Amino acid sequence: MTKTQKEELKNIVKSPSTILFNESMKKYTSFKIGGTAEALIKACNINTVEEVLKYAKEKNIPITIIGNGSNILVLDEGIEGITLKIDIQKLEINLPNNLQDKKVQVIVGAGNKLIEVSYKVAEHGLVGMEELSSIPGTIGGAIYMNAGAYGKEMKNVVKEIIYLDEKQQIKKMTDKQAEFEYRHSIFQEKQYVILEVTLQLERNNKNEEIKNKMQEYADSRKKTQPIEFPNAGSTFKRGKDFITAKLIDECGLKGYKIGGAQVSTKHAGFIVNTGNATAQDVLDLAKYVQRKVYEKIGKKIELEMKIIGTSKNK
Ligand SMILES: Cc1cc2nc3c(=O)[nH]c(=O)nc-3n(C[C@H](O)[C@H](O)[C@H](O)COP(=O)(O)OP(=O)(O)OC[C@H]3O[C@@H](n4cnc5c(N)ncnc54)[C@H](O)[C@@H]3O)c2cc1C
Repeated sequence: MTKTQKEELKNIVKSPSTILFNESMKKYTSFKIGGTAEALIKACNINTVEEVLKYAKEKNIPITIIGNGSNILVLDEGIEGITLKIDIQKLEINLPNNLQDKKVQVIVGAGNKLIEVSYKVAEHGLVGMEELSSIPGTIGGAIYMNAGAYGKEMKNVVKEIIYLDEKQQIKKMTDKQAEFEYRHSIFQEKQYVILEVTLQLERNNKNEEIKNKMQEYADSRKKTQPIEFPNAGSTFKRGKDFITAKLIDECGLKGYKIGGAQVSTKHAGFIVNTGNATAQDVLDLAKYVQRKVYEKIGKKIELEMKIIGTSKNK
């Protein structure tokens, strides 16, 4: 990006949205790994997203979208161009007047965190988000990934998605059109930006029961997941007919380390940053694990986390 482009971008990004240059991505990822973003823009409203994307297209500047950074590995070389962190906040609960009507629609911003939304809707006695509540991402990132836990996925609660298409047109799609599958949505194939989402939840008014359930799921995570070390959740996807973490464990890889990256001793499905891991350490370890599982058990395992950044080898 040229100096002039940086100055022009500063004029486009208006408060409360912010822009920072050469910003370390370690601060914006749950892995606490990654090089610097040439320009990191935190977009707090739809207008900023539209303006920035329009400018980037005009000037041919690459765009990378992130949410809460809890499912990404940012390469050590950093990210060229603009990294757009979607921080659009909204929470609108449309309670029907008819008390017999159990279905309630909730409109949320793509930047709202699952945990905040889940506790807010619980205060209104709405069920549906409990299993998803402790996934540490934004609504946008969770839709992109069709995130899920404890037998529930985003596809079970989403009704409609408002997004910006590649021509910067604001469009709407239904849950069916989003082509949700296990850790997949149409957004992984398109250059769309998720802006706002309508969730469909149910009224049951047992507020305390809902909150207790969420607490149970959060406690269960603490017991089974290595949350004491920075990580990006499950490194690999589940297989069609196997549990990946179990295969990694069977291959004796728990605790295996390359540089600062380690296969968690608590949960073999997680690669953790033991302190000063580089993205290259994580990539080398992930490749090593994939190779060993294939050699010993004959199963191909696929990465779940998304790799973001500008590779030297492109
Ligand atoms: C401790 C831990 C536990 C986890 N447990 C689970 C779990 O149980 N289940 C599960 O499914 N995941 C889990 N994850 C992974 C992660 O939390 C989810 O995938 C989450 O939905 C990612 O959301 P995010 O906002 O952090 O997205 P990011 O990691 O920032 O981005 C993920 C992808 O989504 C894209 N994206 C983000 N926002 C938008 C947007 N608005 N528009 C278009 N594209 C966008 C990005 O480009 C990127 O490709 C866990 C992670 C951690 C660290």
